[in-house]
Amino acid sequence: MTVKPTLRIDNLCVLAGGKRILKDINLVIKPGEIHALMGPNGSGKSTLAFALAGHPDYEIIKGKISLGRKSLVELEPEERAKAGLFLAFQHPVEVEGVSLFNFLRTVVASRGEKASVNEFFKRFKTISSEVGLGKEFLKRDLNLNFSGGEGKRSEVFQALTLRPKFAVFDETDSGLDVDALQLIAGKIKELVQGGSGVLVITHYQRILRHLKPDFVHVMVGGRIVESGRAELAEKVGKEGYTRYGQKKD
Ligand code: ADP
Ligand code: MG
Repeated sequence: MTVKPTLRIDNLCVLAGGKRILKDINLVIKPGEIHALMGPNGSGKSTLAFALAGHPDYEIIKGKISLGRKSLVELEPEERAKAGLFLAFQHPVEVEGVSLFNFLRTVVASRGEKASVNEFFKRFKTISSEVGLGKEFLKRDLNLNFSGGEGKRSEVFQALTLRPKFAVFDETDSGLDVDALQLIAGKIKELVQGGSGVLVITHYQRILRHLKPDFVHVMVGGRIVESGRAELAEKVGKEGYTRYGQKKD
């Protein structure tokens, strides 16, 4: 197993729509660790995912993001992906005319992996079946008309195929039934066992019972207001966000 880098976020402040959404975020996520980010609706969780990805609508006005020795802030989204960052968005962009298979094949090939179309297909088919997606699914247009559950499985399938250095899953648990949730959590754990660092964004503790995160962070009003071990998720599940001055979501 190659040693993967640490993701480090220092004093990150982010603007969206002219408003300061994230305020002085600090996080250090080491390889092989799962961190969970919890928080009520509108607290800024997805904003953090977009800022990490380099989405142009999210302006970093202060702070640093680095993956190992590489600083990410000045990199384009594609360069960040090439550096090993993977993001599963809450609402993935639909791309008509590009199949899931061709998309992934292009990405993997651009990293210098050489294989025939058949070899790629065989490899991807095995991984997709592990997350409960049949091989026909690989021919589907990227994210187009995927059902909620298919979309979530597809994100985890992509992460397993790409084996990123660091992965963020934004509400990958929402809308999944109990069995799918358990399967998806198991696959995320597999990534972590392979040495990837993972940030799971959620507002429920459900998936966290399966994942047993190393650390849990609570975000309210664009700030991390509390960090702790896995028990913090249980506490938030019971008590909600009221004690941070927010209603349970
Ligand atoms: P969460 O994922 O925790 O529900 P978000 O990060 O989606 O929260 O949103 C946090 C706040 O930032 C909300 O008030 C939201 O309206 C605002 N926001 C997010 N993205 C944008 C954007 N592109 N333009 C303007 N405001 C935004
Ligand atoms: Mg969100």
